Amino acid sequence: MFILPDLPFAPDALAPWTSAATLAFHHGKHHAGYVSKLNEAIDGTELEGEALEEIIAASRERNQKVFNLAAQHFNHSFFWNSLVADAQAPSDTILKLIVRDFTSLDAFRDQFNACALAHFGSGWAWLVQDATGKLLVKDTHDAQTPVATDLRPILTLDVWEHAYYLDHQNDRARFIKGFWDHVNWAGAAEQLI
Ligand code: MN
Repeated sequence: MFILPDLPFAPDALAPWTSAATLAFHHGKHHAGYVSKLNEAIDGTELEGEALEEIIAASRERNQKVFNLAAQHFNHSFFWNSLVADAQAPSDTILKLIVRDFTSLDAFRDQFNACALAHFGSGWAWLVQDATGKLLVKDTHDAQTPVATDLRPILTLDVWEHAYYLDHQNDRARFIKGFWDHVNWAGAAEQLI
């Protein structure tokens, strides 16, 4: 049985970028809904009691409903952990890898912003690490997720409209820009291989 994780920050910690009102819906309704529907969907099946990443891997391309719910539970939990009240500078460890693979922190941010902005429809923008350790920027559609693939998620931004519409209406670019004031760089570094 999966449980909705608490937000790792106070509900008003991200305001005005993301308001407590947005979080009340995004975490308290959307994410909570994925968790309760996932529990219902796997109740009494062979997937009940399995780890979330195993459920995602087992349902990918086999059971769209379970995959969507499990992947959205993972993606949202990962997203909350990608955020902090006040972003600190990235540590030397992750900065070195970013400079190696994108040439500079600004170049990485530009690439991530362009990816998040150009993504058509609902989805996610990610910093991921491939099996060789190389960092890449990537977007995924709907509930698609790098977890349980050969790409390791490091950082993510939810670009579904429910993530920003109350605070920014259709201005996704403004939402993306504000993300950098709340990036949990320490958490991102912990995800590195
Ligand atoms: Mn969302």
